[in-house]
Amino acid sequence: MQITEIYKSLQGESTYTGVACVFVRLTGCNLRCTWCDSEYTFQGGRKMSIGGVLDEVSRLSPGKGLVEITGGEPMLQEREVVPLMQTLVQEGYTVLIETSGERPLERVPSEVIKIVDVKCPDSGEGDTFSRENLEVLTDRDEVKFVLSSRSDYDFAREFVNRYNLAQKVKAILFSPAFRKGATGARDSSHCLLDPQELAEWMIADNVPARLGLQLHKFIWDPAVKGV
Ligand code: SF4
Repeated sequence: MQITEIYKSLQGESTYTGVACVFVRLTGCNLRCTWCDSEYTFQGGRKMSIGGVLDEVSRLSPGKGLVEITGGEPMLQEREVVPLMQTLVQEGYTVLIETSGERPLERVPSEVIKIVDVKCPDSGEGDTFSRENLEVLTDRDEVKFVLSSRSDYDFAREFVNRYNLAQKVKAILFSPAFRKGATGARDSSHCLLDPQELAEWMIADNVPARLGLQLHKFIWDPAVKGV
Protein backbone atom coordinates (compact mmCIF):
# COMPACT_ATOMS: atom_id res chain seq x y z
CA MET A 1 0.00 0.00 0.00
CA GLN A 2 1.08 3.60 -0.51
CA ILE A 3 2.06 5.27 2.77
CA THR A 4 2.88 8.94 3.36
CA GLU A 5 4.09 8.57 6.95
CA ILE A 6 3.91 6.47 10.10
CA TYR A 7 4.58 8.33 13.34
CA LYS A 8 3.64 8.54 16.98
CA SER A 9 1.94 11.54 18.53
CA LEU A 10 -1.16 12.38 20.56
CA GLN A 11 -4.60 11.72 19.12
CA GLY A 12 -6.15 15.13 18.63
CA GLU A 13 -9.65 14.99 17.16
CA SER A 14 -12.00 12.55 18.84
CA THR A 15 -12.98 11.21 22.26
CA TYR A 16 -9.48 9.65 22.23
CA THR A 17 -7.96 13.15 22.24
CA GLY A 18 -4.83 13.39 24.31
CA VAL A 19 -3.96 9.68 24.15
CA ALA A 20 -0.64 8.54 22.63
CA CYS A 21 -1.35 7.07 19.20
CA VAL A 22 0.53 5.70 16.20
CA PHE A 23 -0.73 7.26 12.97
CA VAL A 24 -0.57 5.32 9.72
CA ARG A 25 -1.17 7.97 7.07
CA LEU A 26 -2.07 6.61 3.65
CA THR A 27 -1.34 8.48 0.46
CA GLY A 28 -4.07 9.81 -1.84
CA CYS A 29 -7.42 11.54 -1.48
CA ASN A 30 -10.34 11.88 -3.86
CA LEU A 31 -11.64 15.08 -2.17
CA ARG A 32 -10.19 18.59 -2.09
CA CYS A 33 -11.47 20.30 1.05
CA THR A 34 -10.79 24.05 0.95
CA TRP A 35 -9.13 24.01 4.40
CA CYS A 36 -7.26 20.70 3.97
CA ASP A 37 -4.10 20.54 6.09
CA SER A 38 -2.96 17.26 4.57
CA GLU A 39 -2.37 18.16 0.93
CA TYR A 40 1.10 16.64 1.20
CA THR A 41 -0.64 13.25 1.24
CA PHE A 42 -2.17 13.69 -2.21
CA GLN A 43 0.90 12.33 -3.99
CA GLY A 44 4.18 10.59 -3.34
CA GLY A 45 4.65 8.36 -0.35
CA ARG A 46 6.32 4.97 -0.44
CA LYS A 47 5.09 1.49 -1.15
CA MET A 48 4.98 -0.68 1.93
CA SER A 49 3.76 -4.22 2.48
CA ILE A 50 1.23 -4.94 5.20
CA GLY A 51 4.03 -6.71 7.09
CA GLY A 52 6.25 -3.64 6.78
CA VAL A 53 3.52 -1.40 8.22
CA LEU A 54 2.91 -3.85 11.08
CA ASP A 55 6.63 -3.92 11.92
CA GLU A 56 6.77 -0.13 12.08
CA VAL A 57 3.61 0.11 14.21
CA SER A 58 4.99 -2.52 16.57
CA ARG A 59 8.31 -0.66 16.86
CA LEU A 60 6.51 2.59 17.76
CA SER A 61 3.91 0.97 20.02
CA PRO A 62 5.41 -2.11 21.67
CA GLY A 63 2.65 -2.04 24.30
CA LYS A 64 -0.04 -2.47 21.60
CA GLY A 65 -1.79 0.84 22.20
CA LEU A 66 -3.87 3.07 19.98
CA VAL A 67 -3.39 3.08 16.19
CA GLU A 68 -5.16 5.43 13.80
CA ILE A 69 -5.44 4.69 10.10
CA THR A 70 -5.79 8.01 8.29
CA GLY A 71 -4.86 9.88 5.14
CA GLY A 72 -5.71 11.28 2.70
CA GLU A 73 -8.60 8.89 2.37
CA PRO A 74 -7.55 5.46 3.62
CA MET A 75 -10.53 3.61 2.13
CA LEU A 76 -9.23 4.35 -1.38
CA GLN A 77 -6.79 1.51 -0.61
CA GLU A 78 -9.50 -0.76 0.77
CA ARG A 79 -7.97 -3.97 -0.60
CA GLU A 80 -4.86 -3.54 1.54
CA VAL A 81 -6.16 -1.47 4.43
CA VAL A 82 -8.93 -3.90 5.44
CA PRO A 83 -6.51 -6.82 6.03
CA LEU A 84 -4.12 -4.41 7.78
CA MET A 85 -6.88 -3.36 10.19
CA GLN A 86 -7.93 -6.99 10.73
CA THR A 87 -4.39 -7.95 11.66
CA LEU A 88 -3.93 -4.98 13.98
CA VAL A 89 -7.16 -5.91 15.80
CA GLN A 90 -6.06 -9.56 16.05
CA GLU A 91 -2.74 -8.45 17.51
CA GLY A 92 -4.52 -6.53 20.26
CA TYR A 93 -4.28 -2.89 19.15
CA THR A 94 -7.17 -0.45 19.56
CA VAL A 95 -7.71 0.71 15.99
CA LEU A 96 -9.35 3.91 14.74
CA ILE A 97 -9.98 4.82 11.12
CA GLU A 98 -10.54 8.41 10.09
CA THR A 99 -12.47 8.66 6.83
CA SER A 100 -14.75 11.06 4.99
CA GLY A 101 -17.34 8.31 4.52
CA GLU A 102 -17.43 8.94 0.78
CA ARG A 103 -16.32 5.33 0.11
CA PRO A 104 -18.32 2.32 1.40
CA LEU A 105 -17.40 1.44 4.98
CA GLU A 106 -19.12 -1.94 5.18
CA ARG A 107 -15.84 -3.87 5.01
CA VAL A 108 -14.25 -2.03 7.92
CA PRO A 109 -13.89 -4.70 10.66
CA SER A 110 -16.52 -4.24 13.37
CA GLU A 111 -13.85 -3.90 16.09
CA VAL A 112 -12.40 -0.83 14.38
CA ILE A 113 -13.72 2.50 15.61
CA LYS A 114 -14.80 4.66 12.69
CA ILE A 115 -14.32 8.41 12.98
CA VAL A 116 -16.32 9.73 10.07
CA ASP A 117 -15.67 13.30 8.97
CA VAL A 118 -18.92 14.31 7.26
CA LYS A 119 -18.05 17.19 4.96
CA CYS A 120 -20.02 20.43 5.37
CA PRO A 121 -20.86 22.78 2.48
CA ASP A 122 -18.07 25.33 3.05
CA SER A 123 -15.45 22.60 2.81
CA GLY A 124 -16.23 22.61 -0.92
CA GLU A 125 -16.97 18.88 -0.61
CA GLY A 126 -20.44 18.98 0.96
CA ASP A 127 -22.77 16.17 0.00
CA THR A 128 -19.96 13.66 -0.48
CA PHE A 129 -20.83 11.50 2.53
CA SER A 130 -22.48 8.30 1.34
CA ARG A 131 -25.80 7.92 3.18
CA GLU A 132 -25.54 4.10 2.97
CA ASN A 133 -22.75 4.34 5.52
CA LEU A 134 -25.29 5.41 8.14
CA GLU A 135 -26.30 1.72 8.22
CA VAL A 136 -22.85 0.57 9.30
CA LEU A 137 -22.26 3.13 12.05
CA THR A 138 -22.33 1.62 15.55
CA ASP A 139 -22.36 2.88 19.11
CA ARG A 140 -18.55 2.65 19.13
CA ASP A 141 -18.16 5.08 16.23
CA GLU A 142 -17.86 8.86 16.13
CA VAL A 143 -19.06 11.42 13.59
CA LYS A 144 -17.21 14.68 13.18
CA PHE A 145 -18.21 17.92 11.46
CA VAL A 146 -15.48 20.46 10.71
CA LEU A 147 -17.17 23.86 10.59
CA SER A 148 -16.13 27.13 9.05
CA SER A 149 -19.35 29.17 9.18
CA ARG A 150 -22.84 29.47 10.61
CA SER A 151 -24.21 27.72 7.52
CA ASP A 152 -21.90 24.75 8.16
CA TYR A 153 -23.15 24.66 11.74
CA ASP A 154 -26.79 24.71 10.58
CA PHE A 155 -26.02 21.90 8.12
CA ALA A 156 -24.40 19.79 10.84
CA ARG A 157 -27.20 20.37 13.34
CA GLU A 158 -29.81 19.46 10.75
CA PHE A 159 -27.86 16.33 9.74
CA VAL A 160 -27.59 15.20 13.36
CA ASN A 161 -31.34 15.66 13.84
CA ARG A 162 -32.48 14.17 10.53
CA TYR A 163 -30.52 10.95 10.98
CA ASN A 164 -30.98 10.71 14.73
CA LEU A 165 -27.22 10.42 15.04
CA ALA A 166 -27.10 10.79 18.81
CA GLN A 167 -28.90 7.43 19.09
CA LYS A 168 -26.60 5.71 16.60
CA VAL A 169 -23.03 6.63 17.54
CA LYS A 170 -20.84 7.06 20.59
CA ALA A 171 -20.05 10.73 19.98
CA ILE A 172 -20.74 13.63 17.65
CA LEU A 173 -17.97 16.20 17.35
CA PHE A 174 -18.28 19.79 16.14
CA SER A 175 -14.88 21.27 15.45
CA PRO A 176 -13.90 24.69 14.05
CA ALA A 177 -11.88 24.47 10.83
CA PHE A 178 -8.29 25.72 10.95
CA ARG A 179 -7.02 28.18 8.35
CA LYS A 180 -4.93 26.44 5.70
CA GLY A 181 -1.26 27.30 5.96
CA ALA A 182 -1.62 28.61 9.53
CA THR A 183 1.70 28.98 11.30
CA GLY A 184 3.11 30.61 14.40
CA ALA A 185 0.68 31.21 17.25
CA ARG A 186 -0.75 28.07 18.84
CA ASP A 187 -4.14 29.51 19.57
CA SER A 188 -7.64 29.88 18.22
CA SER A 189 -6.77 32.93 16.09
CA HIS A 190 -6.30 30.48 13.19
CA CYS A 191 -9.81 29.04 13.49
CA LEU A 192 -12.12 29.94 10.60
CA LEU A 193 -14.99 29.85 13.08
CA ASP A 194 -14.49 31.36 16.54
CA PRO A 195 -14.73 28.50 19.09
CA GLN A 196 -16.48 30.83 21.52
CA GLU A 197 -19.18 31.59 18.98
CA LEU A 198 -19.57 27.90 18.21
CA ALA A 199 -19.77 27.08 21.92
CA GLU A 200 -22.52 29.65 22.40
CA TRP A 201 -24.57 28.28 19.50
CA MET A 202 -24.20 24.72 20.83
CA ILE A 203 -25.27 25.72 24.32
CA ALA A 204 -28.24 27.73 23.04
CA ASP A 205 -29.42 24.88 20.82
CA ASN A 206 -28.69 21.97 23.19
CA VAL A 207 -26.94 20.17 20.36
CA PRO A 208 -26.11 16.56 21.34
CA ALA A 209 -22.50 17.06 20.24
CA ARG A 210 -19.21 17.91 21.89
CA LEU A 211 -17.01 20.79 20.81
CA GLY A 212 -13.63 19.57 19.66
CA LEU A 213 -10.46 21.57 19.08
CA GLN A 214 -7.59 20.06 17.13
CA LEU A 215 -5.39 19.49 20.16
CA HIS A 216 -2.13 19.08 18.24
CA LYS A 217 -2.54 22.58 16.74
CA PHE A 218 -2.53 24.05 20.23
CA ILE A 219 0.54 22.05 21.32
CA TRP A 220 2.77 22.34 18.26
CA ASP A 221 3.08 25.05 15.59
CA PRO A 222 0.05 24.47 13.32
CA ALA A 223 2.38 24.13 10.32
CA VAL A 224 4.37 21.23 11.82
CA LYS A 225 3.74 17.87 10.14
CA GLY A 226 4.14 14.45 11.70
CA VAL A 227 2.62 15.43 15.04
S1 SF4 B 1 -10.79 14.46 2.94
FE1 SF4 B 1 -9.13 14.98 4.36
S2 SF4 B 1 -7.24 14.68 3.19
FE2 SF4 B 1 -8.93 14.74 1.73
S3 SF4 B 1 -9.00 16.88 1.04
FE3 SF4 B 1 -10.45 16.66 2.75
S4 SF4 B 1 -9.28 17.20 4.60
FE4 SF4 B 1 -7.79 16.82 2.94
